[in-house]
Amino acid sequence: MHSFQRRAALSKILFGLAGVTLAGITPAYAQRNPSLREELKYRERALGQRHCASCVHFRPGSADAAGHGANHCELIPNDDEINPGGVCDLWSNS
Ligand code: SF4
Repeated sequence: MHSFQRRAALSKILFGLAGVTLAGITPAYAQRNPSLREELKYRERALGQRHCASCVHFRPGSADAAGHGANHCELIPNDDEINPGGVCDLWSNS
């Protein structure tokens, strides 16, 4: 095997390992529920004074080192990336 071929093969292996590593560090709680978000017309920006942080359904969590939050909405299961500054059509004042 030529030096160039060896380097190319090594690069593929290293990039492959990097992909596994990056996938491995994705927080287990970083998940979204896109279908329900769409159904409830969830958006990442507040509507005036209406935002998730002031909603009775909001359940705040703590962010990890990568900035991923663990914020939940009790009306959107399997989703822990709810933005405190977001809002949906079911906002209800807390
Ligand atoms: S019901 Fe809507 S506004 Fe309230 S926390 Fe859930 S997503 Fe945010």
